[in-house]
Amino acid sequence: MTSSYCADCRRPVLWTITAAGRRFAVDPDPDPGGNTAVYRDGTGTRRSRRPSDELPLMSYERLHIPHIATCPGRPAPLPQPRPAVLPQGVADFGAYQRKTKGRS
Ligand SMILES: [Zn+2]
Repeated sequence: MTSSYCADCRRPVLWTITAAGRRFAVDPDPDPGGNTAVYRDGTGTRRSRRPSDELPLMSYERLHIPHIATCPGRPAPLPQPRPAVLPQGVADFGAYQRKTKGRS
């Protein structure tokens, strides 16, 4: 078995090798909502790749969710970009304040 555990959260993960040759952990249970196609090559090595329009999911592949997306043991891998526009609620709050001032 090549299953292992995440060093950060100790949950079981599957280690795969990406098309670029890097180790990449995915959650062990296939999930149709995942974005990573996982299959075993002829030597039993689990390989992973991103399905694309040119190379869609094959019948021998299963979709998995990258463990980094569900791992509670480490922060998000990339800083979330700040929204360019304020959320709708913030703008509404400003309008609400102006209305309230107008009433008093
Ligand atoms: Zn983890």
